[in-house]
Amino acid sequence: MRLWRRATTVRRSMLCLWLLLLGFALVTLALSNLFNRDGVHSYQKPRSPRRPLQRVLRPPDLEVIVESKDPALELGDDLAPLRSLQEDQLLFVQSSQGSKSPPQRKGNYKVLLPGTNKEATSPAPSTHGEIGEAVRLHLEGSEKDMEVAAVQKYGFNELVSERISLHRRLPEARHPGCFVEQFSESLPLASVVICFHDEAWSTLLRTVHSVLDTAPSQYLQEVLLIDDLSQHGHLKSVLSEYVSHLDGVRLIRSTKRLGVAGCRTLGAARAAGEVLVFMDSHCECQKGWLEPLLERVAQDRTTVVSPVMDVIDWETFQYNATQWPVRGVFDWKLNFYWESNPKLLDKDPDMNNKPVRSPVLGGEVLAIDRHFFQSVGAYDPGMLLWGTEQIELSIRVWSCGGSMEVVPCSRVAHLNHHHLPYSFPDQEMLQKNKIRIADTWMDAYKKIFYRRDTFAHFIRQAESPNISERLRLKRSLGCRNFHWYLTTVYPQLYIPQDRPGLSGELYNVGTGSCAEYSEGQGQQPGPMNIAPCSGTGSQHCELNFEGELRWGPLAALCLDAKAERVVLSPCPIHRPATSKLQWKFIKLSGQLVHQESQLCLEAVKEGGLPQNSQREVNTHISRGGLFLRSCTHHPRQQWHFEQLVASKGA
Ligand code: UDP
Ligand code: MN
Repeated sequence: MRLWRRATTVRRSMLCLWLLLLGFALVTLALSNLFNRDGVHSYQKPRSPRRPLQRVLRPPDLEVIVESKDPALELGDDLAPLRSLQEDQLLFVQSSQGSKSPPQRKGNYKVLLPGTNKEATSPAPSTHGEIGEAVRLHLEGSEKDMEVAAVQKYGFNELVSERISLHRRLPEARHPGCFVEQFSESLPLASVVICFHDEAWSTLLRTVHSVLDTAPSQYLQEVLLIDDLSQHGHLKSVLSEYVSHLDGVRLIRSTKRLGVAGCRTLGAARAAGEVLVFMDSHCECQKGWLEPLLERVAQDRTTVVSPVMDVIDWETFQYNATQWPVRGVFDWKLNFYWESNPKLLDKDPDMNNKPVRSPVLGGEVLAIDRHFFQSVGAYDPGMLLWGTEQIELSIRVWSCGGSMEVVPCSRVAHLNHHHLPYSFPDQEMLQKNKIRIADTWMDAYKKIFYRRDTFAHFIRQAESPNISERLRLKRSLGCRNFHWYLTTVYPQLYIPQDRPGLSGELYNVGTGSCAEYSEGQGQQPGPMNIAPCSGTGSQHCELNFEGELRWGPLAALCLDAKAERVVLSPCPIHRPATSKLQWKFIKLSGQLVHQESQLCLEAVKEGGLPQNSQREVNTHISRGGLFLRSCTHHPRQQWHFEQLVASKGA
């Protein structure tokens, strides 16, 4: 008996020793793999399918099967080195199936380290339960399937991204005038704040390395990586380990999901640099991007600046330079756009390397003086997870004493997602953020927003946002009103008149449908259609004092005629409109008369043919649409403007 016990003790000590060695080897191997994982493939040839079927989405590159007496996930002291992995859910317990001992006495632990490039060497799936099964399935899938899965998970093709170096350099896209620019010797130091939530390993680390590789160290206080409660395993202890080896990079973990605005405010509170540079977790910086931003902020601490945001394609990871000049704008649905207008350079070539004022800045990369950021009220803490926080900040900065610019000699590329990885079961969160902007900043102009977004209107009717703190801030900072912002900062935005009875959905009596212009066509001109009335505000149009029938969230497209087909064209910027773009509404008959031709607007249903158009049967007409016809009293020429949101109240 005693002999047996001694043998057991010796066996136990051996096991302890073995496990400790194993833990050490494991961590060393993981780290060495992580540091060596930068792909050798450059941006120019990102898609070469080396080892097409051997790569799996997240292969278990390293597996350790640990036998323990404890079937539950409680690790004894012997397994201390594995504890952090367990916390990170990187340690999986397999059911005791197949083991020799009784099920309740024994458990197998399997350690999977994601993301290292070792080929999958997992033992036969059948002995490794669910995880092995998943791996086997992936191995069987084609490369295309894996790409589709990656796109679903991240909103971009992470497989392509993985093959691109974490240190890739972007092709030069700056104007030659930028190279001769001199910067003052004593630029303020920047804290680069990178918030992330479940970002892919390759894109996150490429962002970090890109900052470290391009920002001169004398101007870089620190890089703060703020983890907004990510769930993905690779962002846990493996990331902590990786970051601990990077000079000047700190990782801060939030214990609550904060969303973009809250996360950035947290980063700002921890930052020591004089200038905050907020950056998305999937960016790549051009050489020389930081200095021009710091220079501008140093010249005026109330100036908030953004680089020119170039675009990384979500599918191919190709870099696309954005055409200068570019500025940020929004429409009446409070959607943000970057608007490039290269024609402006013809008038003023000096613009090539001079910053331009921008009514809004996108949130991808933003540099702001740290004290100014705090004094102007940081990000609105009432903003939910994601969306429009940059519009709120922009209106506030402008209205409360600051200004915004895009700086041409600074360029950073941002990965435009195919779709957002965090899914919104409904649009409510985004709408609520927009409601905060409308109610806090837009004064009476908010009605224009609610008319074009009836969903927001109904949410607003059901519950009021708690914005009292923000209104107090607005008062205490002495901020200007929205009328000032519209006329001084963003005069390019047309202000709809939305007259009762002359604005809303354009309802056609004869077809029981509404005038429609598909969203997919965006701001581009094209033929008008008819469709079931949406009731969402997406079909809103207005007949203004000038006789223009203005359409769309920017109200910058006008109903126009191409022969007998009614189309949308850009409205004239300088009034008055020509009679080609003018209409008259005869309330009694419901007719809309095109002023130049004196013909009437008629709706034609799909398959229906207007007179004189037999030749065009096979083209757009068979799909129905809006046409100009000799005026009759046919119901297809009778129209009503249906206002969805009454003129009174929000
Ligand atoms: N983000 C975050 N918490 C969230 C949502 C987003 O920290 O709840 C991060 C995200 O990882 C990214 C940045 O905030 O670095 C902006 O989000 P995203 O890139 O999805 O916005 P987009 O560029 O698509 O507008
Ligand atoms: Mn982004």
